[in-house]
Amino acid sequence: MHLTNEKIAEFKRILEEERDNIAAQIQRVGTGMDFGNDIDAGDEETDEAEEIGNMEGVKFVLEEKLKSVNRALEKIDSGSYGMCETCKKEIEPELLNIAPESHLCKNCKQHPD
Ligand SMILES: [Zn+2]
Repeated sequence: MHLTNEKIAEFKRILEEERDNIAAQIQRVGTGMDFGNDIDAGDEETDEAEEIGNMEGVKFVLEEKLKSVNRALEKIDSGSYGMCETCKKEIEPELLNIAPESHLCKNCKQHPD
């Protein structure tokens, strides 16, 4: 395993911070705050529907990301963090530096299947 305990502890800190950030964002989306402030009073119904559509999209993306982050945190606990889910090889450290929640190595990410 190329990842040192220090490095894993660092990723864990980053991931936990990210998890809290995303959870806070999901909560904001849920209450309809902070997103799409430009509601045109002229056509309220349409705008509202669009607004909800956008928020659902944003929420979906955030929830997917949260799942990914949580999965990475679980892997840290179980000791399998940093391993590609597809080829079971080590994920490149530079990839983890950019996205600590990565579950695939560079090769598998670029060539699904
Ligand atoms: Zn791989």
